[in-house]
Amino acid sequence: MSYDPENIFAKILRGEIPCNKVYEDDYVLSFHDIAPQAPVHVLVIPKGAYVSMDDFTAKASPEEITGFMRGVGHVARELGLAENGYRTLANIGEHGHQEVPHLHIHILGGKHLGPMLDKNF
Ligand code: AMP
Repeated sequence: MSYDPENIFAKILRGEIPCNKVYEDDYVLSFHDIAPQAPVHVLVIPKGAYVSMDDFTAKASPEEITGFMRGVGHVARELGLAENGYRTLANIGEHGHQEVPHLHIHILGGKHLGPMLDKNF
């Protein structure tokens, strides 16, 4: 799947659409999810044009990968989630139910989140 520069997170990165920003550095932008599914629900996206974690892990430079992963950890700590724990989640493609085709990690926390997935598979 090729990268669509008109996806909503690309527009947020270009400043064409506002976001409720949490953190930004050279590698990542983090903002609150517009439809939170936990008391804390934040997204972290890389600044580079990557469709998904599949695309990113195949093509991103070591600096981009390091910067992205450090950004995720930094945001979780800044939000005070590290002590009690939290969940990170990346949906990939159709089976992963990915809705926005720009890589994003969900950071979810602020309560006990329960089991990871519905066990009826
Ligand atoms: P996914 O299903 O992993 O692609 O998740 C996409 C996420 O992006 C969902 O949780 C949406 O609520 C969130 N989302 C969509 N549009 C926006 C937006 N403009 N600002 C913040 N979050 C958004």
